[in-house]
Amino acid sequence: MNPMLQTLYQEVILDHGKQPRNFRKLEENCIHQDAYNPLCGDKLVLYLNVKDGRIEDISFEGQGCAISMASASIMTEELKGKTLVEANAIYKQFTENITGHAGESDMGKLSVLSGVKAFPARVKCATLAWHAFEHAAGGETKASVTTE
Ligand code: ZN
Repeated sequence: MNPMLQTLYQEVILDHGKQPRNFRKLEENCIHQDAYNPLCGDKLVLYLNVKDGRIEDISFEGQGCAISMASASIMTEELKGKTLVEANAIYKQFTENITGHAGESDMGKLSVLSGVKAFPARVKCATLAWHAFEHAAGGETKASVTTE
C-alpha cells in the first residue's frame, strides 16, 4: 500500500478508535448482541433497530483495541439507513475482503480497515462487530458471539 495512504488509514482508525461514532445504547425496539474476541480482549454490544426491513438505527458500546472500536464505529456509520439486504451485501463484501477471500475491490470508507489483512491476528478485532451484526440481523441472537 502507498505509504501516504497507509498513514491516512491509520489516522482514520485512530480517530474512530478514540472517538467512536454511534457509541451509545439504544433503548427502544432493539435487538442487541454481545460479542467477544478472546484473542485480544475486545468486547462489545451491538444494538440494532430494524423497521420495515431497513436499519433505522444501529449503535454499540464496549471496549477494546483501536481496530475493534474503529471497525464497529465505521460499520455503524456505513450500515445506518441501509436495508438489511444492502447491509448483508456490505457485510459479505467486507468480511470476504478482509479475510483475503476476495480480490481487491473498492469498499469506500471500509477500505481503511483493509490494511488489517496484513495482520491475521487483528482480523478478528476488525470483524468482531460485523459478526455481531450478522447474528443480530439474521435473528439468531446468541448469548455471545465469539470470534473463535
Ligand atoms: Zn482487538
